[in-house]
Amino acid sequence: MPSNVPADVMAARLRGFGSTIFAEMTRLAERTGALNLGQGFPSEDGPWFMLEAAREAIASGVNQYPPCPGLPELRAAIAGQRAEDRGTPYDPDSEIVVTAGATEALAAALLALCEPGDEVVLFEPYYDSYAAGVAMAGGVRVPVLLRPDGDRFAFDPAELRAAISPRTRLLLFNSPHNPTGKVFTAEELRLVAELCVEHDLLVVADEVYEYLTYDGLRHLSLAALPGMRERTLVVSSAGKSFNVTGWKVGWACGPERLVTAVRTAKQFLTFAVGTPFQAAVAAGLLGRRQWLDGLRSSLARRRDLLAGRLAAAGVRAYACEGTYFLQVDSRSLGYPDGELLCGDLATRAGVVAIPSTAFYDRKHAGRSLVRLAFCKQDDVLAQAADRIGAFAADILATTKG
Ligand SMILES: *Cc1c(COP(=O)(O)O)cnc(C)c1O
Repeated sequence: MPSNVPADVMAARLRGFGSTIFAEMTRLAERTGALNLGQGFPSEDGPWFMLEAAREAIASGVNQYPPCPGLPELRAAIAGQRAEDRGTPYDPDSEIVVTAGATEALAAALLALCEPGDEVVLFEPYYDSYAAGVAMAGGVRVPVLLRPDGDRFAFDPAELRAAISPRTRLLLFNSPHNPTGKVFTAEELRLVAELCVEHDLLVVADEVYEYLTYDGLRHLSLAALPGMRERTLVVSSAGKSFNVTGWKVGWACGPERLVTAVRTAKQFLTFAVGTPFQAAVAAGLLGRRQWLDGLRSSLARRRDLLAGRLAAAGVRAYACEGTYFLQVDSRSLGYPDGELLCGDLATRAGVVAIPSTAFYDRKHAGRSLVRLAFCKQDDVLAQAADRIGAFAADILATTKG
């Protein structure tokens, strides 16, 4: 366990990245038998035809090293998907590289594109691997706040502008956004893109939730905006789109100079992984239309189930436009501090959630936020919502009485 390793053996750039809050909260859920709405992994399997394709690939001997950039049929399927669904064609041979999940694509991009001391601008809260990826590359994080604005999250364009300096190398961007559930609007994307073009920044756009958008919202790729294709590396993965987070098949698409840089780093990280899973994901992408509408509507229904029951209990949550996360305002349960609320929810209500401070550099900005994952079975969600509701009623009764 990372926390048992004496700190003096660990390189300075990795200090502070001990065991993640997700592992800690999952252990807490296992120990206490609490319902786990902490870690964001789906409770259902992916499409049967894709699972079957993996079994067939293994049975038919597709088990040795794939080419470093990924199986040709997977790169062709990714190229087709990007062109058809995002309007951004990529050459499968020179502009696409398959990676060990989006995580490796992000780490390889940061390692390959940043010099030590380069600044990386990113919106906070942010996905936890970003800080470690920037640190391993010797870069410096420059966070820009996504702040609550009504029932969604927004940024101040002046703050984004002010975060960009002559040392800024790249913008690390994520939409649909984990953990806020925000889907950046066309107007917000235009603003971000204009600043990137004006300051000649590289962009790494994490689009792993590209298909998990609700209420008729459609994901727009930052790479599709004027002046952006040549500077943007789009990162995505099969994990979230196809309920196969354990397969770790991801990819990066972009202009040849950026993809070559990523491929150079990744060839010495993993070289390549998961040949039969790559073959199966190619089949998944080709058959995506028969799967994604169902996934989206089932997740939207589960979001409404959880959000509806919480609202009825007086628990305030922000709008979830995409991803499978709901941000709850801990103050609506009488807790100014989300970390304290998560501790009490686990031990007294039997529900594990993640304190959103885990996703912030400036912890105070996320102090009253708690993240719930709703990619779980209906009965688990209904039970968890009822437990949180009963807990809230208890707390509010004692504070009033
Ligand atoms: C889950 C997640 C990832 C990691 O994707 P993998 O394909 O599992 O490596 C990257 N970015 C965000 C925002 C995520 O939520």
